[in-house]
Amino acid sequence: MRKRKQIKKKILKTAIPITSALILLIILFLGYQKITGSSIKEKEFLETIETNTYATIDNYVIYGIHLRLEGKITLENQVENIKLVLSNGKTELEIPWILEQEENTYNFKTSKNNNEGINLEKLPEEDLYLLIKTETKEEEKTTTKYYSVENKSIYKNLEYYTLTKNHKNNKINIEWNTYENCPTLRFKIKETTLPENVYDITIDPGHDVTDPGKTVCFNGSNIIDPDWYGNCEFGSLYKESDMNLYVSQKIKEKLEEAGYKVTMTRNTEQDRVKVYDKMGSATMANDTKSKFSFAIHHNSSGINGGISYLKGLELYVANDINFDLANYFIEEIMASASTVTSSKTQHLSENGIYQRFFTEKEILEDDVQPSNKTTNNIWYYYIREVGGVSTGATNDGRYAPTYPKNEHQKSNNTAEPYLFELGYMDNVSDLNNIINNKENYATGFVRALQKYLEQE
Ligand SMILES: [Zn+2]
Repeated sequence: MRKRKQIKKKILKTAIPITSALILLIILFLGYQKITGSSIKEKEFLETIETNTYATIDNYVIYGIHLRLEGKITLENQVENIKLVLSNGKTELEIPWILEQEENTYNFKTSKNNNEGINLEKLPEEDLYLLIKTETKEEEKTTTKYYSVENKSIYKNLEYYTLTKNHKNNKINIEWNTYENCPTLRFKIKETTLPENVYDITIDPGHDVTDPGKTVCFNGSNIIDPDWYGNCEFGSLYKESDMNLYVSQKIKEKLEEAGYKVTMTRNTEQDRVKVYDKMGSATMANDTKSKFSFAIHHNSSGINGGISYLKGLELYVANDINFDLANYFIEEIMASASTVTSSKTQHLSENGIYQRFFTEKEILEDDVQPSNKTTNNIWYYYIREVGGVSTGATNDGRYAPTYPKNEHQKSNNTAEPYLFELGYMDNVSDLNNIINNKENYATGFVRALQKYLEQE
């Protein structure tokens, strides 16, 4: 018995230092990983990257759920196969791009439109590097080379939270030069929970207590303007601001049921909403890092006391985008709320989808001179300002404090905005439909967004 105890003691005596040494090694290894920010495998992969030639990135912008970038690379020799990839040696995703070749120089961009490019919602939870991959075949042998990218844009690192899905989010840190041996652009993707002040979606129920928008008196079959005091001789009073709020609340409820974290620029009929500064209707979506921003309005023909012959849905969208999501909104709201697209032709781009740009005359009449607006700028401040650099936001507070300031005017990381005119309040059939079908407008809206996010 005694002898056994002694052996045990002896084993313990040697085992303890060995275990301690091992633990120490593990700590050192983990520490090393932390210092370099990349694992050994990743480091091995990064060592294979070319060190004499880099691509340059001249511009990169997040708009909604997409990152688009453009740049160029000049190679020593012609290559057979050239690709843009996100890779760590283990996982590799090919990024579609538009490539223009001039001899050995390749100019590239990820997309033509602002709401296309790298879909940040679809990236795996890993660390990935943006690289140019070339393949050259020489006598049956294929040589693969990776080239890294150098930041020549005016922007620095970016941070993106993915939309909430099954109560989960990823945080994506898009960071330059995380590896000492060459310039890099790393996408560090990790699961996280949304910070309290970060949201998926912002809704702006148009107008507020001080500005009701269109008001009408309606008894189910006749519409007239309220009297000078804002009262109705017959029927009930309908304010656009309240109608916007009711539909927005329904949309919010349904989006939350679908799992999204949603905020609104106002929550009651009595709220006042400012446009600029912090948490204004033009800034809140970006203050809260929302991916989408939706303004909900109801239309009117602008004829005082008149009845509108126009009716139906109008969706106002930004410049330089594809209409995938816009088309889903039109289709799904029409189907769900039994409405039609508007017959208005002014500013019409496609069935129900409108783009209202500034005219030369409007720019000249701009009360703030010199105006920094162009005919490529969207007239609706809500769309123009929310989109930052993508939509050519203009309000920079030059004549502060009277001139409004958009803190996100030059931002390359913004929400994608849409402005809805759900129907005409001075059209009897539209107004009846809006009053009786609020829920269905919201249902169509949410279906459209779900459909868009599930595509690709
Ligand atoms: Zn309105």
